[in-house]
Amino acid sequence: MLKIRPYYVKIKHIFAKERRHDMNIAIQCCSLMILIVIMYLYLSCKKVFLNSEFAFFNLLCSTVLCVFMDIISIVLMSKYDYFGRGIVNGVAKFYLITVVNVARCCLMYIMSNVYDNGDKLKISRLAVYGSFAIVCIGICAAPIEFVSDGKVVYSKGLSLYVSYVFLCIFTLQSVALLAKYSRVLNKDRVKVMSLWIILWIAVCVIQAFYKKQLIVSFAITLGMLVVYIRLENPESALDRETGLFNQNTFGPYVSQRFRNGERFSLIMVTFDDFNKAPVSGTIRCKKEIINLFKDIPNTFAFKTNENDIYILYKHSEEAEKMFELLRRRFILYGDKEFRPYISYMPHSSITDNIDDMLHMFRQANRSNEMVEHHCIIIDKAFRDRMMEVQKIEKMVNDAIENNRIEVYYQPIYSTEKHIFTSAEALVRIRDDKGKIIPPATFIEIAERNGTILKLGEIIFENVCTFIETSDVLQYGLEYIEVNLSVVQCEHEDLAKEFIEIMRKHNISGETINLEITETATLASKKKLIANMIALRNYGVGFSLDDFGTGQSNLNYIVDMPVDIVKFDKEMTTAYFESTKAKYVMDAAMHMIHGMKLDIVSEGVETAEQLDTMEELGIQYIQGYYFSKPLSQNEYLDFIHKKNKDYYEQHNKQ
Ligand code: C2E
Ligand code: CA
Ligand code: CA
Repeated sequence: MLKIRPYYVKIKHIFAKERRHDMNIAIQCCSLMILIVIMYLYLSCKKVFLNSEFAFFNLLCSTVLCVFMDIISIVLMSKYDYFGRGIVNGVAKFYLITVVNVARCCLMYIMSNVYDNGDKLKISRLAVYGSFAIVCIGICAAPIEFVSDGKVVYSKGLSLYVSYVFLCIFTLQSVALLAKYSRVLNKDRVKVMSLWIILWIAVCVIQAFYKKQLIVSFAITLGMLVVYIRLENPESALDRETGLFNQNTFGPYVSQRFRNGERFSLIMVTFDDFNKAPVSGTIRCKKEIINLFKDIPNTFAFKTNENDIYILYKHSEEAEKMFELLRRRFILYGDKEFRPYISYMPHSSITDNIDDMLHMFRQANRSNEMVEHHCIIIDKAFRDRMMEVQKIEKMVNDAIENNRIEVYYQPIYSTEKHIFTSAEALVRIRDDKGKIIPPATFIEIAERNGTILKLGEIIFENVCTFIETSDVLQYGLEYIEVNLSVVQCEHEDLAKEFIEIMRKHNISGETINLEITETATLASKKKLIANMIALRNYGVGFSLDDFGTGQSNLNYIVDMPVDIVKFDKEMTTAYFESTKAKYVMDAAMHMIHGMKLDIVSEGVETAEQLDTMEELGIQYIQGYYFSKPLSQNEYLDFIHKKNKDYYEQHNKQ
């Protein structure tokens, strides 16, 4: 008490001399008005409330409070004798706390921008709250003084220095964080935040040396204005055309939900080639969906840069209802021409990060199910299927890299020459444990991701090497049939690459026959025909594979320059089981023979089947009756044994 007494006396003395002071609060009042306008604009716009948006809102509130307290404290200080020491002291100290609080909120705002890890953010927040509590206690406990120079009243004393010290600590921490993460942060963010910190430092320095310049409120308001306009204007989170949230919000918001462990359901709607040809019907359909999504409570709708529309639900029951509604309205009973594609992820728990989630949506959009039904559910079963596909993709790539692609050969018997004049090359993969993987497991997947081109080349190289280095031609083998996938058929350089490989191995085109399959998915018949003509000119023959399965069509045989038609196993089997199939096969056979084409009957398993096919005049037989597909060495043994007579006859000559 003894110590404090002279201090009161001093203040009383100062204020006794100068009782009437101008309240220099015009700048503060203008600043407050600007802040209130920013607050109004900010709150009147919809937002998803990202961590950084929360942090900005806190910062905005703390700034408003600080400027407001600045005004109050100036008013109170200038009417010191009217309000009394206790109140003025308390208010002035509280004002100092609100100034430090702004620096704290600024630091936390930067933290929310740089830490994408939820735990790290939580721990850092706790540390900042802890230091802030110390500041509050420090400012309250330390003494404060007031100085009046006739025009302005300002405070000084230990309390003020405590606030300076913590202001500096928080500001330096902000600088350090920004410097550390400046590379990962968006450049614009770094620029604006740096500007703001520079402003802070400038103000602190000016205030420290020129205590009469009360510019804190003005400076922090200016800072807020810049941050609001450049970084936090909620309008920039919206898509101008639709009013939905845009891509800038979608990624951060979904990532934040995953980080915080908040479950959700997501529906995605997209349209066919919308960017390439915006058709009025599609636009109408899209508008209807956007209007439907716009104002549903408890949901957020987004439009991405790829023009995909996402709607996020916090509760799966509501998402389920919306999915059903969309399916009925636009897929089942909508205009068939303008049907959107709808993917629905009922539970976000099937993954834990946005990259995997988006990958699943992309895969879903490319799936056959989506093409066929225009809607797909991305659930656990879908994810497992996708992971299986990824596993197989990896296995194929590993096999390619480590030379584990093998070619098996299934002998083909000539009913005219009574020897095995050809063989079908059938690919196998040996996995890392030595197990043989059949083509049904991986061909379709390799076709979808394009690996089939590399795989096809390896198979063809293998076959050419086999013909070049073995004695199969001396044993009566005329050609080897090699399967071509539709993706290879459409590949511009197929003919060029294959001819190059044949030249390299010094084998003639006549020793190769390529099997093509009729498919509805063939996009460019022109490229296929061009490839076929180039290869035919080199002597390569062609077969039409899988004739008699769902896809085949007699016109195709007329259109395509093929030498052989291969009757599928299904057709061979059906011939013996159904009279209808028998008539179809008889007619087809008649027609094919009329065109001077040869026929291979696949899937012949019994002597009875073989006899009938021979009687029908089918030229070639392939099937388990003679042999399963054999490894290269087994096949060599097979042909050495079965075509021995041919070899001996021809060697004698
Ligand atoms: P595909 O071209 O129709 O080949 C004939 C398939 O029928 C082969 O199956 C063969 O082992 C099987 N098969 C032959 N005779 C009989 C029989 O008497 N009974 C039964 N039950 N099956 C018989 P694989 O080797 O599993 O090949 C399946 C499919 O994978 C092939 O059907 C073909 O579409 C594709 N494929 C195989 N190798 C290649 C390749 O090198 N490239 C491409 N693009 N596709 C290939
Ligand atoms: Ca085949
Ligand atoms: Ca076949």
